[in-house]
Amino acid sequence: MRDYQKGTQCLHAGYVPGSGEPRNIPIVQSTTFRYSSSEAMGALFDLEAEGYFYTRLQNPTSDHVAAKICALEGGTAAMLTSSGQAANFFAIFNICSAGDHVVASAALYGGTFNLFAVTMKRMGITFTFVDPNCSKEELDAAFQPNTKAVFGETIANPALIVLDMEKFAQAAHAHGVPLIIDNTFATPVGCRPFQWGADIVTHSTTKYMDGHANCVGGAIVDSGNFDWTKYPDKFPGLCTPDESYHGVTYTERFGLEGAYITKATVQLMRDFGASPSPMNAYLLNVGLETLHLRMPQHCANALKVAEYVQNHPKIAWVNYPGLEGDKYYALAQKYMPNGTCGVVTFGVKGGQKAAETFMAGLQLASIATHVADAKTCVLHPASSTHRQLTEEELAAAGVSPDLIRLSVGIEDVQDIITDLEQALEQV
Ligand code: PLP
Repeated sequence: MRDYQKGTQCLHAGYVPGSGEPRNIPIVQSTTFRYSSSEAMGALFDLEAEGYFYTRLQNPTSDHVAAKICALEGGTAAMLTSSGQAANFFAIFNICSAGDHVVASAALYGGTFNLFAVTMKRMGITFTFVDPNCSKEELDAAFQPNTKAVFGETIANPALIVLDMEKFAQAAHAHGVPLIIDNTFATPVGCRPFQWGADIVTHSTTKYMDGHANCVGGAIVDSGNFDWTKYPDKFPGLCTPDESYHGVTYTERFGLEGAYITKATVQLMRDFGASPSPMNAYLLNVGLETLHLRMPQHCANALKVAEYVQNHPKIAWVNYPGLEGDKYYALAQKYMPNGTCGVVTFGVKGGQKAAETFMAGLQLASIATHVADAKTCVLHPASSTHRQLTEEELAAAGVSPDLIRLSVGIEDVQDIITDLEQALEQV
């Protein structure tokens, strides 16, 4: 399946029905799975046999969809989670404990920033947030002896800063830790971070992957490339026996290709239970089947919208990494030559008040916290998703008070531009 092009993988990867079996991925709407003997079930609990016993840990519908995302990213193992937040939490907590430290780009989705800076800090895991445009020396200086991972977003939400992934991967590897990339905005259609040195990829599948505002979800994909066994003292959870599974050592039993995702599934899903419902996994798959068609349309529409607002007298500034002249155009061309995403940010002259008048005037675009959807939606992050951040944190995350985030959908672009036009006339 991995030899197929991405467009074919979007439709077929992860599930190949046998003769007479359902063409669509079946929705296995069952919490439990029956076994004929206690021994057969015991082997599952000792991780000696593969199989399903309880949907909190694994479910066939979710696993088929995870396998599709795994193929699209070019990974070796993947899992779905109930949300993107759960994916990012698991991706880090799988290799970090109290007393550990992570280097993260400061340009992150507000919810991720809060998860790291507030909630995970309470768990004893600390983060150093670095300017994504920092020099190699500045990046190196952020590492500590207890650093266990580096984290960033391919295209930061909502700052639209393109991460120099190779710079971050080199620094991570020089310090013996993996690079975790949240690839939500680019999707594997636009960028495959493993090709640029990332070791783990996460997604809020709620966004383009689902694409139709149907279900909140997340995914974690492992490249299988990071050699945990080179640093057993740093990653004891992967390289030494797990007493909660009768002493299994994940890297020994599941190899580099399976250790990380197996550990996250059997420990974190078991204990935290952030599992998607089979129905949501099914709906996510329906979205994935057209991801390769929707992404180019999002990108083409967003570019036209960016060009339109760039030339409008009532617009102060515009950010779109696919727009020539954008600060991140060169990095976008390097990492995403076939298109970035459908999100454009801009400032309406007149600051927050003008921004609010403009947003209230929109008819086609919906004001919604959602982003990366087939339908155009719009948001003012400083007063919503990022409102917990201080002024300094807002600045570090690249979110100015006048920033409007327009998630350009796949409607006819002329209608989107006409809507912007009439709303701007009211400002
Ligand atoms: N990562 C990014 C880049 C996001 O944009 C979001 C949500 O907007 C998340 C993670 C969190 O995902 P979810 O809302 O599915 O929990």
